[in-house]
Amino acid sequence: MDHQDGPTTLRGRPEAGSTARGTGSGGDPRRHIVRTDAVLGDPRLVTAVERLGPDLVKSVVGGAQERARAGEIPGASVADAAVAALPETAAGLRPVINATGVLLHTNLGRASLSGAAQEAVLAACGHTDVELDLATGARSRRGRTALAALLERVPAAEAAHVVNNGAAALVLAATALAAGKEIIVSRGEMVEIGDGFRLPDLLVSTGARLREVGTTNRTVAGDYAQAVGPDTGFLLKVHPSNFRVTGFTSSASVAELSGLGVPVVADIGSGLLRPDPMLPGEPDATSWLRAGASLVTASGDKLLGGPQCGIVLGQAEYVRRLNRHPLARALRVDKLTLAALEATVRGPATPTHAALHADVRALRERAERLAAELCDTGLDARAVDSEAAVGGGGAPGVTLPSAALSLPAPYAARLRCATPAVMGRVEGGRCLLDLRAVPRELDQAVVAAVRSVAPTAGLGR
Ligand SMILES: *Cc1c(COP(=O)(O)O)cnc(C)c1O
Repeated sequence: MDHQDGPTTLRGRPEAGSTARGTGSGGDPRRHIVRTDAVLGDPRLVTAVERLGPDLVKSVVGGAQERARAGEIPGASVADAAVAALPETAAGLRPVINATGVLLHTNLGRASLSGAAQEAVLAACGHTDVELDLATGARSRRGRTALAALLERVPAAEAAHVVNNGAAALVLAATALAAGKEIIVSRGEMVEIGDGFRLPDLLVSTGARLREVGTTNRTVAGDYAQAVGPDTGFLLKVHPSNFRVTGFTSSASVAELSGLGVPVVADIGSGLLRPDPMLPGEPDATSWLRAGASLVTASGDKLLGGPQCGIVLGQAEYVRRLNRHPLARALRVDKLTLAALEATVRGPATPTHAALHADVRALRERAERLAAELCDTGLDARAVDSEAAVGGGGAPGVTLPSAALSLPAPYAARLRCATPAVMGRVEGGRCLLDLRAVPRELDQAVVAAVRSVAPTAGLGR
């Protein structure tokens, strides 16, 4: 990966420069290199200092000076080289076009925010009335409009609460409702979500005890009923969102569990608020609340298509116990998250929704158009059929017919370092750029990125 623009890496550079100074000797090429102060006087770099800060710009200038010392560029063009190497922003995160065919790619930050959500984030960046009633001047409930939006979309919920992520929602539920007590859970739902995150470990870390019932493949309502006792905190129902057990299987439904006289916490994972006919196997908050769940927990940045957060919806009494618990303060989300969440819930269809529901013929047409454009410039590009997946630990086994631009395999690595970076996948010895998760508006950016890394373009990097 090319981290050249990252401030972390850049900070190391002046040191490398001073080492070079220490060992430098006769026939010194450095004499021809413009001094840092003089380079920083370049009006373009003066502007850059205002935008990015002096440390970052000095580091970039240092990098350009090193290249001049190494003879890679003429000493007189240090300022030009520095300007060309300036990062877009003062942060190291770079935009990536997701052409992997995985709609919610964890390494790419899962869901991409809608334009409405991006605008809401920008509007909330400064001071904002996140916890203030402007009409009365009094303090008000933090994030009340975001919570109201959730409740409007899910009338089956009496109350809502938002925390940092899905895992935090479970931790808060376990802490507030079951610390020192038992959480009854099926052996078939003891899930590892990814990257070593294991639900049982997380729950036990709160001081709750796990009471496992049933077997890996079969658990029935009677198994839970037998385990219920004075020590029960709640019954936990988890949607095994990233794997499938098939064959001789059964599991108890939320409706069955809600008849056992103890609270039922149901983790739907992906954040669908209502059923989606495209994903019949995916539970949604409305259905599980109607079936009797006391609380439903979910992630904000999976199928809901919003910012990273954890959503808790359900009966007012239980939501109150969660949001009044001291731990809630440690898990609370910032104003930017609340703004993005509300705009996601109220706003137009999200990029995730668009990708999920894209028409495969339209994807194929786009792939053919892009291939034709690139072929015109002599590139080995063609349109091929492809298979996309939901990803992000959602909808296992669901494949979405898709279309891709197929390029020679070496393009995969080069495109990752293009601007903007394009992340494809290598399959059958070819680099595939799957278009299902690429918004149509970015098609020309994909073409430009491919051209910029084509060997014939002569743009040495
Ligand atoms: C993804 C997922 C989680 C964890 O949510 P994060 O937002 O990643 O913390 C928990 N449970 C299920 C069923 C999930 O799918």
